[in-house]
Amino acid sequence: MSRRAGRHFLQIPGPSNIPDRVLRAMDRPIIDHRGPEFAKLAGDLLVELRPIFGTSNPVMVFPSSGTGAWEAAIVNTLEPGDRVVMFETGQFAALWKRMADKLGLEIDFIAGDWRRGADAAQLEAILAEDRSQSIKAVMVVHNETSTGVTTRIPLIREALDKAQHPALLMVDTISSLGSVEYHHDAWGVDVTVSCSQKGLMLPPGLGFNAVSDKALAASQDGGMRRSYWDWEEMLKSNGTGFFPYSPATNMLFGLKEAIALLNEEGLDNVFARHNRHAEATRRAVTAWGLEVLCQEPAEYSPVLTAVLMPDGINADQVRSVILDRFDMSLGTGLGKLAGKVFRIGHLGDFNDLSLMGTLAGVEMGLAVAQVPHKRGGVQAAMDYLAGNNRAA
Ligand SMILES: *Cc1c(COP(=O)(O)O)cnc(C)c1O
Repeated sequence: MSRRAGRHFLQIPGPSNIPDRVLRAMDRPIIDHRGPEFAKLAGDLLVELRPIFGTSNPVMVFPSSGTGAWEAAIVNTLEPGDRVVMFETGQFAALWKRMADKLGLEIDFIAGDWRRGADAAQLEAILAEDRSQSIKAVMVVHNETSTGVTTRIPLIREALDKAQHPALLMVDTISSLGSVEYHHDAWGVDVTVSCSQKGLMLPPGLGFNAVSDKALAASQDGGMRRSYWDWEEMLKSNGTGFFPYSPATNMLFGLKEAIALLNEEGLDNVFARHNRHAEATRRAVTAWGLEVLCQEPAEYSPVLTAVLMPDGINADQVRSVILDRFDMSLGTGLGKLAGKVFRIGHLGDFNDLSLMGTLAGVEMGLAVAQVPHKRGGVQAAMDYLAGNNRAA
């Protein structure tokens, strides 16, 4: 392959682009993870992470992908045979369910059409019928990265409260944390699962669990056999600024910088910026005469937009044309959406002109790939961005 000048446009919904300041922060000699410099770094970080999750409780950091943090949430709190409720919001919900299955949980999987979020009314009905309170956890994906749909977690909490049900609430915020408003404590979440490579603008490699007192109590009395993922060992070591095994040291340098970036911008401004770019993207898609996959406006994702292709058009063919001609990667359709949608990531280290480059690449790609569409999506997005709604 010959060299391609200029920066590749990585517009998949995670891993997201890494800001230069974060790259520079990680480009350092390794330090002793049993020494005083590390204890200071980790001690500070474990506190600085809490407001990002909206919690004053501990947040644990595993050297893992998000999938590992899913497993940590389950094995510390649930036992084989425990009944849980999960929602079929898309591919990531289906994968978490498959893991729960493998670990021996009994799952009530609420069916969905992959075009809207978890249904709080259906949850409330199931919980109200569970008079023996045999359901131990409700597990939901906040931002379903395969579909571009964001479930309203406060409505899920409300369903638990209305049914006065004691089940734990576990939320996957892997693609929402640091991009979409979220409050672990205020929303009554028991375990928040997340990881590093989406809104936190880092490479893959860190998995997170934020935990409530109730989740910690459940882990003390129960959970499954576990070792690597054991919260108790992690919290014991973390108490002194260390880890029970080698931490991902240089990723932690990067995490510290990423948190600084979020705080310098202000989390509320970060969330507003994501909402604004998502709205501009939807205006472009609508102007092209194409369809946004998400069907519930209150659940549009601030992080990504999945675009449905007209019948007879293979979305992966369009993606491949765009990669080849314009050096831009878009997200592929996952699971049953394979070939039917492409996903535009508009998250992380991203601004108005990154969005305009992205949308111009898509509009040119639609033309080159001969997808039936109208022109003017880029213009519609520009009109919105240049209009009466400045970035915060
Ligand atoms: C990316 C993603 C995952 C998987 O995370 P890995 O780091 O690839 O293990 C899980 N859930 C959601 C919502 C995601 O976006």
